[in-house]
Amino acid sequence: MISTAASDEPYIQLVRAPNPGPMTLNGTNTWVITDPGAGAVVIDPGPAIDSHLEMVLAACQERLIMIVLTHRHLDHSEGAAMLADRAGCGVRAADPQFRVGPDGLDDGERFTLGAITIEVFETPGHTSDSRSLLLSGPDQVNRVITGDMILGRGTTVISHPDGDLGAYFDSLDLFERLVRNRDVRELLPGHGPIVSEPMPWLSFYRQHRHERLDQVRAALAAGDRTPTEIVARVYADVDRSLWPAAEQSVRAQLEYLERQR
Ligand SMILES: [Zn+2]
Repeated sequence: MISTAASDEPYIQLVRAPNPGPMTLNGTNTWVITDPGAGAVVIDPGPAIDSHLEMVLAACQERLIMIVLTHRHLDHSEGAAMLADRAGCGVRAADPQFRVGPDGLDDGERFTLGAITIEVFETPGHTSDSRSLLLSGPDQVNRVITGDMILGRGTTVISHPDGDLGAYFDSLDLFERLVRNRDVRELLPGHGPIVSEPMPWLSFYRQHRHERLDQVRAALAAGDRTPTEIVARVYADVDRSLWPAAEQSVRAQLEYLERQR
């Protein structure tokens, strides 16, 4: 368990789920936000693994009053209903299928938990339902929980057909605006380590996507026609276990290029 705040009473804790894999890096990051006296909020409970959910509940210390999902993928959402049942709280999610209770997760919504404010931003791209959360806490440092839009290591997948590369670029613009205008110091990703230098990391993400687009354009020019052919050429340097995910990103890129013509 990692706390990111310097104070004796860490208000953000990372509980990493024991589900490492090619798509999850060293496991899903479950973020536990606690304000003594006010309660706890859990972002992305992760997979339905009993020992993990027990650790998440223990990390709350206070009563768990709300669970929030950054997006619908099961490595983030699967344990949500089970945890909600144990805690007797609701699950807020953009996708109605994953809610427990009536509450969604709309752009511009703002919750307070004691001295902590949580603001919701619509950040589609990885999936259509991706949401990010701006946290302003008692330590005066602003942070953004990014789900799978930005990871702490490597790059993210544009899911197909759920994701969208054009939307992804727009969301990168939004992240950059938040870093610049809202003084965001850290990104707390859905997998991998905390990003303590948001701006260079966001630039790298944008640059990587443009490089891949150039490679896909070149593959088309070289005569590749199917996503499978393009993956074999463009992702030749990437472990084959990631090729199915790469194919989703390629399909998303082809759609993006098609729309630009
Ligand atoms: Zn995901």
